[in-house]
This record gives sequence, C-alpha cells and structure tokens, in this order.
Amino acid sequence: MIIAIRMQQSEFAGGYMSHIYYTQAQLKDRIISEIFVILALSVLIFSGFFVLEEYGILPYLLIFIGTISALIFRHSNTRGYKCTNCGCEFEITFCQDLPTINSILFMKKMLTCPDFKLRDYTIELIKKKSN
Ligand SMILES: [Zn+2]
Repeated sequence: MIIAIRMQQSEFAGGYMSHIYYTQAQLKDRIISEIFVILALSVLIFSGFFVLEEYGILPYLLIFIGTISALIFRHSNTRGYKCTNCGCEFEITFCQDLPTINSILFMKKMLTCPDFKLRDYTIELIKKKSN
C-alpha cells in the first residue's frame, strides 16, 4: 500500500515534465519480465515448503495473493497495448490485467479497444517515460 502511494506521488510530480510513450519490447524487457515471473514462482515454491508446513494454508494464501498481486501490479504499470484494428494505444488497469495474467509472458493480449469497443488481440508494448 505504501509503495503504491509513493509511486503515484512520483508520477504526479513528474507528470507535467515527462512524456509517456510506448515502444516495442526489447530482449532486455522480456528477460526482466521473465526474471520477475521466476522470482515470484520461487517465492511461492519456497514458501510452499516452509510456510505451508509450519503455519498452514492461511498464511500461505496471503503470501500467494501478495506475490501474484505484486506481479500484476508491476505488469499493468509498465505495459501499454496497441490495437491491431485501429492502431490506438492504451493502458489497462490492475483489474483488467488480473483475468488475463496467464498471458504475462506472451506479448499479446485479448482486450477491448477503447475507441471502437472491439475485442481483439492487441500487441503488448513497453511503457516508457521521456523527460
Ligand atoms: Zn482500436
């Protein structure tokens, strides 16, 4: 929660000066994404052995939800999507990212375009900020 508030503040502070744009994912972006997914899976597997044994299902469920949420939070904040029909670029929220999180490692996602309200595949882009 504290992290989320801080991120919003820094975005607000730099909002007038910086320009947000979207770019195709480079190999580096993909590797970083994969590292985050592997990290999250490691936390879940590692805590599965220890927390599940020692403390039971409830604490493990909290760790599980927290880890997955952190992964989705990061993903929805660093991605933009380009519509394959009209070419418009848009972002999605945490809640929109949640049901399609299985596509986290693919750079395609089934989304509804905000301009024409058509549901189709979109190309996932990396959100960048220029000064
Ligand atoms: Zn569109």
